[in-house]
Amino acid sequence: MCGIVAYLGEKEAQPLLLHGLRRLEYRGYDSSGIAVVDRRGRLHVVKRKGRISELERVLGSCPLTGTLGISHTRWATHGIPSDANAHPHCDQSGRLALVHNGVIENYQNLRQKLLDLGHSFQSETDTEILAHLIGHYYDQLPEGDPDRLENAVRAALKEVIGTYGIAVIHADHPDLLIGARRGSPLILGIGLGEYFLSSDVTAVCVGAQKVVYLNDGDIVTIGRHSFHISSLLRDSVGFELSELELSEASAELGDYPHYMLKEIFEQPQAIRNAFRGRLDPEEGTAKLGGLHMSPHELLAIRRILIVGCGTARHAGIVGEYLLESLAHIPVEVDYASEFRYRNAPIDEKAILIAVSQSGETADTLAAIREAKRRGLRVLGICNRVGSSVARETDGGVYMHAGPEIGVAATKSFVSQILIFVLLALLLGRLRYLSVGQGRAILEAIERLPDQVDEILQKAGLIQEMAQRYKEVRGFLFLGRQYQLGVALEGALKMKEITYIQAEGHPAAELKHGILALVDENTPTVFLCPRDGVYEKNLSNLQEIKARRGSVIAIATEGDTQIAKLADDVIYVPEAPEFLLPILTVVPLQLLAYYIAVALGRDVDKPRNLAKSVTVE
Ligand code: GLU
Repeated sequence: MCGIVAYLGEKEAQPLLLHGLRRLEYRGYDSSGIAVVDRRGRLHVVKRKGRISELERVLGSCPLTGTLGISHTRWATHGIPSDANAHPHCDQSGRLALVHNGVIENYQNLRQKLLDLGHSFQSETDTEILAHLIGHYYDQLPEGDPDRLENAVRAALKEVIGTYGIAVIHADHPDLLIGARRGSPLILGIGLGEYFLSSDVTAVCVGAQKVVYLNDGDIVTIGRHSFHISSLLRDSVGFELSELELSEASAELGDYPHYMLKEIFEQPQAIRNAFRGRLDPEEGTAKLGGLHMSPHELLAIRRILIVGCGTARHAGIVGEYLLESLAHIPVEVDYASEFRYRNAPIDEKAILIAVSQSGETADTLAAIREAKRRGLRVLGICNRVGSSVARETDGGVYMHAGPEIGVAATKSFVSQILIFVLLALLLGRLRYLSVGQGRAILEAIERLPDQVDEILQKAGLIQEMAQRYKEVRGFLFLGRQYQLGVALEGALKMKEITYIQAEGHPAAELKHGILALVDENTPTVFLCPRDGVYEKNLSNLQEIKARRGSVIAIATEGDTQIAKLADDVIYVPEAPEFLLPILTVVPLQLLAYYIAVALGRDVDKPRNLAKSVTVE
């Protein structure tokens, strides 16, 4: 949650910071702010409640000049969204400014200590306490200390319990920018004569050619011509310079009105990217070198635990059915937030798979750490190269889906499922699947991008349908087996961006209570493609119709029977049932999207939410 961008270079900082903040707005958008040190060593801070456009409006009439600055877009954890609570926050002297992503858990104790020392605070945030604490240590250190600001940051962070990605500047140091991270992401972007700090790479691709993904505990001290990295946790620090692969254009909206729609339409490409170079037609299997596991080790897996949050967990649920049926390995899916505190019995033949688009989801990272503490091998499925999930796991698979900026996840869901298909195929081929069966699966995988394209052609029909359903009180999403994860995901999309109450359930649960919700004003989206449970679904569908509930059926192309029962039908092409979730989710994404647009919702930035959830 929340985004940080900082700049030190030869150019004016303000336009670069605002550009970066726009890129990070998906991470938080209740308030934003900027602080710049000007050429005369004066610190200027401007911050405003509301969207970044509000900050831009204020700065438009009175721009800040200077080549060193920090900025922030907030998703509040401590204190309501307001001008005062917006970042940057200053220390007691008003000469040091700081932006922060994370939560200072012991801020009450630190606050009391600082109050006793005579400090006074302007905001209700945990962040302001940290700014004051650094300022306090700065005052304690001798003026002649060449590393005074860095040492003050280090001393303060040693007292902090919690998570942070921070950027710090000081009016007395117009050539110095300091960053640090623990638990929250922070990257260093390096350009020609300029440096950036940012929560993610999309904000630095205007100037940086290389990036360093900072590690937990790292402190980076940046001057005008060099930087150095030290650590709070380790004595010696090595770092890796990576080429910035992301182009400026890939983070642009192009002709689309919203990132969500752009990303829905990018799904054929996201699927191609997820399987490119990973299919082995000769052996009828998948190649996943990033797992760093020998066939012998893969064969020894006796149990798989999958953890994730939100959409990633839904993909995990589809993964459970895939792995169990193609590889015959028992699978359990859990909320990352539950797994981390639960005393789940595990043994050395189990592995944990953590799923997270951003690779920075705090609960998922905590689950990874808990699993590692218990000696489990941990694999990651994530999109962001170099993210914390990628670095903290023993191996994994990248999605290569390109940046996902819309807060409601879309293309990451299909990528994650496709990766589970590849994993299930690889593990299945080591166990029960023949080369012929493996090859048939590969062929079906290769057809998916065009099949998704076919569904996308129906966007106009779904848009028209959205007009008819936009006023309803609530939605039910039902599915069985492979379609259960899709039903849950469809309900989540609907809630997230339309704010209409929506519930996803296994279809058979209807009669155990859910049927009471069915009425003329609560339509059901029923996932009933032709699969092994088709007939059972039809019976449930009739039960809904008998109670005057309307039904939107997601069905297989050519199914005329369903058209007679349902009020509306959206068809998807035929595919093996374990691949169908990749197809059936697409109409649900479009339906939620068009209803949200029809209701005038802010699709890419739904209320109260933010994209990568880097706080607990
Ligand atoms: N805890 C800080 C605040 O509430 C930062 C929140 C965040 O990381 O989004 O202002």
